[in-house]
Amino acid sequence: MGVLAVQGDVREHLVALRESGAEAVPVRRPEELERVDGLVLPGGESTTMIRLLRTFDLLAPLRERIADGLPAYGSCAGMILLADQVLDGQPDQETVGGLDVIVRRNAFGRQVDSFETDLELTGVAGGPVHAVFIRAPWVEASGPEVEVLATVPSGPAAGRVVAVRQGHLLATSFHPEVTGDHRVHAAFVDSLAG
Ligand code: GLN
Repeated sequence: MGVLAVQGDVREHLVALRESGAEAVPVRRPEELERVDGLVLPGGESTTMIRLLRTFDLLAPLRERIADGLPAYGSCAGMILLADQVLDGQPDQETVGGLDVIVRRNAFGRQVDSFETDLELTGVAGGPVHAVFIRAPWVEASGPEVEVLATVPSGPAAGRVVAVRQGHLLATSFHPEVTGDHRVHAAFVDSLAG
């Protein structure tokens, strides 16, 4: 399992994957990308990450591998990278794409740009997940193949879609790697084990 390591909270994802029973390595080079069977795209800053992906010659190979079915999980900025379309991004903000969704960047607004809530996540048993949102996106619209896994339960953003799956692609607006509860990573690792 790889964690895209051009920017963002890479180490936390490596820990979460390892504690979920996977062998996990950082991915910075095309050769490293070739070797992994699954990939986490961490939180960070999506515009910076796209720029660095280009600099590291990773953007084209990553698009190719994801289009070929590489299982990938994107958290926060990682969700933005997986999305086919971004609202409130930089003009013509590019993504890696693959996930048939439109995400709105920094969607929760300035006043509540970071918040935490407990939510039910389809596919994760054992009670609600504590979800930490940090200048997070939400899913504004999604295509017919996309399954909604979680919405915000209450408050001003109630009902907003914050976790989705489409075949081999999983994305959450929030950061499960910072809570010490690794059930989201475990679900991703288990989905690869078949
Ligand atoms: N707001 C960031 C972006 O647009 C994402 C924030 C995060 O990953 N915590 O890329």
